[in-house]
Amino acid sequence: MSTQPNLGNINTDYPGQPGLQRNTGRLLATQGYVLGIEISSSGARQSVALADLNGQVLYQLRRPLEYVPDTETVLSLLNEMIAEATQPERLPKGRLLRIGIAVGGLVEATQGIVRTLYHAQQWNNFPLQDYFAEKLDVPCIIDNNANAAGLGEVLHGAGQGERVVLYIGLGRGIGGGLIVNGRIFHGASGTAGEIGHTLVKENGPECSCGGAGHLEAIASARSIIHSMRNLAQEYPESLAAIERITRGQPENLTAEQVFQLGAEGDKIAQQVVQQVHTYLGGALANIVQLINPSMIILGGPVAQAGDLLIEPLRQRIQELCLPAASQSLRIVQGHLGNEANLVGAITLALQDI
Ligand SMILES: [Zn+2]
Repeated sequence: MSTQPNLGNINTDYPGQPGLQRNTGRLLATQGYVLGIEISSSGARQSVALADLNGQVLYQLRRPLEYVPDTETVLSLLNEMIAEATQPERLPKGRLLRIGIAVGGLVEATQGIVRTLYHAQQWNNFPLQDYFAEKLDVPCIIDNNANAAGLGEVLHGAGQGERVVLYIGLGRGIGGGLIVNGRIFHGASGTAGEIGHTLVKENGPECSCGGAGHLEAIASARSIIHSMRNLAQEYPESLAAIERITRGQPENLTAEQVFQLGAEGDKIAQQVVQQVHTYLGGALANIVQLINPSMIILGGPVAQAGDLLIEPLRQRIQELCLPAASQSLRIVQGHLGNEANLVGAITLALQDI
């Protein structure tokens, strides 16, 4: 358990169109609380946060699972965590008004259904929104974690005031969210922004979804680390560099460290990083050409590489796009770091009040 910094007053009003109609209805509330929940597809992050109506996190807890989670395991764990976070003494000024959930899988947000949680069991078409709404007798909103993180970044992170934002979460997988006028753009069936499973390389490496040559299979944290380890096997200098940067624990190699090794001159790391810039840059350039965002926000562990990731990406996008599409584009690292999904979940709940 840890307490989190005050996120400041979160203004969920946003100039522009009203956006998608959610199905819980709205209420005028001045007192009460919301709950943000994060569910990851790897099991590594199950988080619950209690926040006030200004978005200030009052209590937060996170419990990782060692394995890929099925619904029963995750829901019983979350129910315990929710019970702890919502003990009556933590809610002196009213009741719980909304629950927002950021899910690391495909979500049909308008129906409140989890379509798929890759590699996890029993999640296909699971009615998660109804489950918690009935269990806790509180309206619940669910969405994909990249959509939620993007919303969080736009409303109180790196993208404040931006009207058309593409958020890319570069983690174990790659997720994306499109936030237009302060609202998540879902597309016809909720998969808008799923950039991770776009084809970028014919006959490329196998993807977690079963496809091949998808962006996620090249530019996710897992793919970057996997490529570096595999390619380094033939090169003692690179193996030694991995040993050095991980202080003798090569199993803990991070994507950020691969970027650092590349910057330090390691030829194998440079090759891996070059692939990321080539294919991620190409994928982003196509989206920039199509939707003309004012900002791309990069989040997740790969974005920790900062300018080592962003500067070459910026150059590649400028090269590939018409100047009119890219000249005012800003590409930035997210401000919410590891908490982006959870803050996004809280924002989902607050935006519905
Ligand atoms: Zn895929």
